Parts: sequence; structure tokens; C-alpha cells
Amino acid sequence: MDKLLIVGSGASGVHFALSVLQKGYHVIMADVGHRKPATIDRSAAFDELKTGLDDPVRYFLGDEYEAVVSPQARQEYYGFPPNKSYLFKQPATFHFEGQGFQPLFSFAQGGLAEAWTGGVYPFNDAELGDFPFDYSEIDPYYSEIARRIGITGARDDLARFFPVHDNLLEPLELDRHSAQLLAAYEMKRRYLVGKLRCYIGRSRVATLSVDRDGRTACAYCGRCLWGCPLHSLYTPSLTLEELRRHPNFTYLPDTYVSYFTYDAHRRILSAVAETPGEGRSREITADRFILAAGTLSSSAIYLRSIFQGTGEIAILRGLMDNRQVLVPFLNLKMAGQTYEPRSYQYHQLAVGIEQNDPRKYVHGQITTLKAALAHPIIQNMPFDLRASTAVFRKVRAGLGVVNVNFRDVRRESNYVTLKTDGASDHPRLAICYSPPAEERILIKQVLKTVKRALWSLGCVVPPGTIHVRPMGASAHYAGTVPMSTGAGLHTASRDCGSHYFDNLYFVDGTTIPSLPAKNLTFTLMANAIRVADRAF
Ligand SMILES: Cc1cc2nc3c(=O)[nH]c(=O)nc-3n(C[C@H](O)[C@H](O)[C@H](O)COP(=O)(O)OP(=O)(O)OC[C@H]3O[C@@H](n4cnc5c(N)ncnc54)[C@H](O)[C@@H]3O)c2cc1C
Ligand code: SF4
Repeated sequence: MDKLLIVGSGASGVHFALSVLQKGYHVIMADVGHRKPATIDRSAAFDELKTGLDDPVRYFLGDEYEAVVSPQARQEYYGFPPNKSYLFKQPATFHFEGQGFQPLFSFAQGGLAEAWTGGVYPFNDAELGDFPFDYSEIDPYYSEIARRIGITGARDDLARFFPVHDNLLEPLELDRHSAQLLAAYEMKRRYLVGKLRCYIGRSRVATLSVDRDGRTACAYCGRCLWGCPLHSLYTPSLTLEELRRHPNFTYLPDTYVSYFTYDAHRRILSAVAETPGEGRSREITADRFILAAGTLSSSAIYLRSIFQGTGEIAILRGLMDNRQVLVPFLNLKMAGQTYEPRSYQYHQLAVGIEQNDPRKYVHGQITTLKAALAHPIIQNMPFDLRASTAVFRKVRAGLGVVNVNFRDVRRESNYVTLKTDGASDHPRLAICYSPPAEERILIKQVLKTVKRALWSLGCVVPPGTIHVRPMGASAHYAGTVPMSTGAGLHTASRDCGSHYFDNLYFVDGTTIPSLPAKNLTFTLMANAIRVADRAF
């Protein structure tokens, strides 16, 4: 059997690895692989950590107060907690510059999805229109990923947008605020659906509602943002642990892959890698090579390989990401009630806004405020500290945010390439993005609908609080080497084999040919095991 080298241990890489191991392949996984800190006090709930830890300020805000969100700095409503800073640490030799794009990179074991909020939505036939396969081909792989990671959800109004695959678990218990919103939706359904074409239902989340495979059902402890202590909320490092117990699996952490060497027929011979901080390179050989380093890092390795072998600086066009707009709201019916720190913290409801063209579907996730860092909200209130804190306490149980996501398509103007300055052995990854001309009008139209919908549910959007997040913030990167039925130079086959290199495959977002509004990671995982099944 061929020896396979996979670069990256994120959501895409670990599920591809599991499938090919099950087929009998020998697998090497090269990964920078920064490790997460040990989980503290597994049984404590969020409020118990606040009162029970020796130094709760250090835990929640960090040694250097790095989790403090400064007023007006980025207008984000939350920062990453200190115990997740390892996720965004970058090797010293990795450099990038972004124009119109503020990307996130993770070089951690498990990748970016160690910080995700677990929203998992299958693409439907309309959304797969630019893919070289339809829903019926990927449906079994969605079902298999659902079996592996555990997905909760319901067959409700949103099933018209989210196909119902197998292995869907019972939904989580709703927090009081989300339950109130869902009940209000049922009362106003005629108006919302008939006039606004706005549907609300349960979000699909990769969090267990029952004990499974050594993982525990959600205990509603409210610690999701700081890392689920019970592994109820799925993260790829759980699958990496499973892989490491397999006899045919070799994990190479502390391994930063720079580029591939190849012969005159563009058959890859080895990956050139170094241990971050040490500077010495080594070569790792295999029969077939699989890029799962995340769209941007995989693109960087691919571009660098072409550069090292030919001196050419190629341009990969068509980079995509979902524009996200955060719409905070206050539910007047919930104001004055007590808030529930012991709840599932992330979104439990989703919203779908139907468009005439189903490919243009607009997707949202509704998160009600429970346990969270309060200071970013308090400091944005138009009062002094004492008054803002008092008002916040009164309204806390009624606060929430809709995260509205827009689709993206491949456009020539958005690309990744390399830049060299001659002095360094390490060319920089250069990313260039500009939104489509019609984006402002579209956002305005959709926000009007969202505000009307919220108003009908008894919620107001405080003036001046809507935040259009910068491109790159959603971390849904895709499209630089798209799957295609033609054999264009920097494209991939329907089974994600490179058309440029003979024995190279991509199993992350690199090959996604168009990006629906729904969060894409479920599709990345399902596509990765589709490739493992069809091409290996
Ligand atoms: C805050 C947040 C919330 C999110 N929420 C959701 C959500 O609810 N739903 C959803 O669908 N998506 C969500 N996402 C997006 C999701 O995390 C990504 O789509 C997903 O992580 C992509 O997985 P990947 O395996 O393709 O790449 P990555 O997660 O980027 O993993 C890359 C892996 O490659 C390794 N690597 C990179 N470069 C090299 C190199 N040169 N050499 C060796 N190893 C390398 C890294 O160490 C890492 O293991 C969220 C992201 C963030 C940041
Ligand atoms: S998913 Fe969140 S609420 Fe549930 S057990 Fe984990 S941390 Fe606690």
C-alpha cells in the first residue's frame, strides 16, 4: 500500500487520515501542532470558576491582560480567551501580508476548529451547483461525519435549506432566551415567512446531547468559549488522539512544511520541512502527498513548491470568504429577568433568509448572551461605568446577536501569491481581496429584513451597534485551486487531485469552487472523506 503524507491536523486532515487508515494505508501526518494547555477543573461550571479559582482574573483575562478588548479598538464583541492564544501562534519563518483581508492562521493541533462554535450545515443541491458532484454523492459522507463527531439538530422549518442527513442527534436543551425567541417565531410565523421569507429553527451543532464514544453529553456548564472540559463540543484534536492510537499512523509534530521537491514529470518526491526555531531542513518522502493545511497555508506550500522548482511566482485567483455582519439585539420581553450562566453558550437557533435564486440564500446564527466576557459590552454603552454596569445587569438576559453570513463566489480580483524581497529564504504569502461592487446594497437590504424580523419578535437593535466584520474574520477560506471538470493549470480534478502535480491532493477548502453562506467546515470534512473513498 502507498505511504501517504498529510500536511495538517485540522478538521479536514484528521478525517481524511481516519478514512485512509481504515483502508489500510500507512499515514504520516506532518504538523506544526502547537498544543493546548491542560484543562482546569473539569467538573466546575463557569460561575464556579469565577469564584473558585485561586486567580480567576489570570484565567479569564490572561497574565498580561491580553483578553481585555479595548474600547473601540476593533469593535469586536468578544476576544479569544487566554487559554486559546496557543491556537494563533505562528512559526517565525511564516510571513504574510493581507490587502483588504485580515486572515486567521492556526498552527495548532486540530487547527482553527479548536476555537470554532460548531455550526455544521450541509450544502444543498443549489449550493453545490458549481461543484462537480451533487448532494446525492456527498450525502453519505455528511452522514458519516455526523456519526463520527456527533451533530444535534431538528427537522424543522430550516430543513428546507439544510438537507437532513443520517445520524442527527436530538437537539440540545434550549436556554430560556432562545426558547422564548422560538416561541415568538411560531406566533409571528405567518408574517416572517410570508412577508420576509425569513425562517427560524434549531441550529445544527457539533455538540453531544447524549453520551457517546467516551465523550459526555453537554452538561450545560457555560464554559464553551474557554474550551469544553467534557469534550461534548467536538474539536478535531479528539480525532487526532484517536489517530495516534492507530499502528499505521505516524504523527510528526513541530514540523513546518515549506515546500515539495519533484521530478521533471512534476511527480512530488518529498516535503521539505523544518522544526520551528531550529532552522535546519529535512525531507520527508512518501508516495502520495495530501495538503490539509487550511486553504491559505496549503496555497502557500503549493506556490512555494512551484517557486522553488521553477523560479516562477504563480498567482492563485478566486479566493473566497464569507462576509459576516454582527447584529446585536435586545429582547424587550427578556429584559429584567435573571441571566443563566449554566447554559450552552453558543448559538442554538439559526435563521435562513430565502432569496429568489437559492444559491444566494443568506444564513444566520442567533446567539443569546449567557456566560461571556461582559466588559466589551459594558464599555460600549453610552453611560459612565457605574450606570453602564447597572443597565447591563438589568438587560443582560435579553441580549443576543445575529451573525449574518453572505455567500461568496470566485472572482479574478481576489488572489493569493508570493512576494520575495531577495534577502529572505522565506517568501511571504500575499493575499489580496476586494468585495463585489454590489455588496453594500445587498447588506443594506438584508439588514433591513433582519431588523424587521427582530422587531416582530419583540427585539430592538440598539442604534450604531451593527458591525460589518472585515473580510478574513469568518475564517471560511476557499477556492484558490478549484475542483473543475476541465484540466486548467491551477485547478483540481473532481476528486481533488492537482492538475499541476502528479501525486498531490487537496482535502481542505482550497478546492471549493463556490462558497455558500453556510459555514463550510462540515462540507470540508465530508469532502475530505469523499476524496479518501474515491481516490484512495
Ligand atoms: C472563532 C472561529 C469560529 C468558527 N466557527 C465555525 C463554525 O461554527 N462552523 C464552521 O463550519 N466553521 C467555523 N470556523 C471555521 C473553521 O475553524 C475552519 O473552517 C476549519 O478549521 C478549517 O479546517 P482545516 O483543517 O481545513 O484547516 P485549519 O483548521 O486551518 O488547520 C490547518 C492545520 O494545518 C497545520 N499547518 C498549517 N500550515 C502548516 C505547515 N506549513 N506545515 C505543517 N503544518 C501546517 C496546522 O498546524 C493545522 O493543524 C470557525 C473559525 C474560527 C476561528
Ligand atoms: S458544550 Fe459548553 S455547556 Fe456543554 S459541557 Fe461543553 S462547555 Fe459546558
